[in-house]
Amino acid sequence: MDHFLYRDGQLMAEDVPLAEIAASVGTPVYVYSAATLLRHYRLFDEALQGMPHLVCFAMKSLSNIAVLKLLGDAGAGMDVVSGGEYLRAKAAGVPGDRIVFSGVGKTREEMRLALEGGIRQFNVESEPEMRALSEVASGLGVEAPITVRVNPDVDAKTHAKIATGKKENKFGIPISRAREVYAMAAGLPGLKVIGIDVHIGSQLTELAPFEAAYLKVAELTRALRADGHEITRLDLGGGLGIPYDRGNNAPPLPVEYGEVIRRTVGDLGCEIEIEPGRLISGNSGVLVSQVIYVKSGEDREFLILDAAMNDLIRPAMYEAHHDIVPVVEAEPGLEQAVYDIVGPICESGDTFAKARSMAPLASGDLVAFRSAGAYGAVMSSEYNSRLMVPEVLVSGDQFAVIRSRPTYEEMISRDSIPSWL
Ligand SMILES: *Cc1c(COP(=O)(O)O)cnc(C)c1O
Repeated sequence: MDHFLYRDGQLMAEDVPLAEIAASVGTPVYVYSAATLLRHYRLFDEALQGMPHLVCFAMKSLSNIAVLKLLGDAGAGMDVVSGGEYLRAKAAGVPGDRIVFSGVGKTREEMRLALEGGIRQFNVESEPEMRALSEVASGLGVEAPITVRVNPDVDAKTHAKIATGKKENKFGIPISRAREVYAMAAGLPGLKVIGIDVHIGSQLTELAPFEAAYLKVAELTRALRADGHEITRLDLGGGLGIPYDRGNNAPPLPVEYGEVIRRTVGDLGCEIEIEPGRLISGNSGVLVSQVIYVKSGEDREFLILDAAMNDLIRPAMYEAHHDIVPVVEAEPGLEQAVYDIVGPICESGDTFAKARSMAPLASGDLVAFRSAGAYGAVMSSEYNSRLMVPEVLVSGDQFAVIRSRPTYEEMISRDSIPSWL
């Protein structure tokens, strides 16, 4: 459920008409609903009630510091995958003991940053990383709390680019070698083994792969304890999917996901961490765009928008579907038009949808891409020298620009011409 509904024929973000935001900020623009973000965070928090737990928002899905502050103030931790994300979480006021550091390529610089600023744990993904962390922590005279990310070789049944739990993926340590790697960790200075980490992929629409992975983690927990390790925390990753296409079957709910956790690892006495990103941020945001032209091709009509693949890359990158709806509700019973919906960028990959049926639109009309809050603004770029897309946060009847659109001058002035040219 989200808070982008029609009221009196106008698509609203909570109590603010999207048309009002478009008029004030311009288009394209991302608009987030604070109530939806909080609602989704709380669904996970409630799903884990009765078990000691922390919900760490995977902030790579949406990393604006206003969003991080909103969730952090509500009690969320953060899952970060770079030094930049770590510093953003800190800038949003999230304490270090609620920040988890994931990622396959943490540099020594990033490790130092987190150890000095405070960190809940590192999820270590390889032996060389473990040695590096041991050296950095020892050098600083501190102990780094760690889990080892294990790769359970489970098929997440999702898009190949976002599956991470098969043996051919670059992530984690093969679970078959985990005991050996934990033994190594126990022998290295500056490290404190506290748990196990697993994350098998993103946009999972079934519970079975989670169940299979978590059963393997439970088995490993028992084996590692028998080896003498203290396993007190299980980080079970993120990945629960969202309904991008409302016409189709809905993925499982957080409460059902919570039941899988309870059933598989609930009896181990461990603190549970999860790292949902998309399910918290995805349906909490829309991308609002204006129709520039309706162009008739030989055998089809093109809806040319002022948003492009540089603003929302998911359709081009993952063949992703986004519902695209008019901001002014269509008259009931109106005959549908069929469009290829595209952006202005000079490549055919800049296509958001093909043969999409929707109410007829004209130049100047506004549309909203639904479910655009996750992996939207964070993956935007200036390709074609288009200005970085701005972001707006709505709460009730108020809204604020939380990232402004730069001027052309600001964009160009970041480049410099060498004196010898
Ligand atoms: C991307 C990622 C997540 C979040 O995935 P979602 O599908 O957005 O929930 C969580 N943990 C790790 C380690 C990730 O890389």
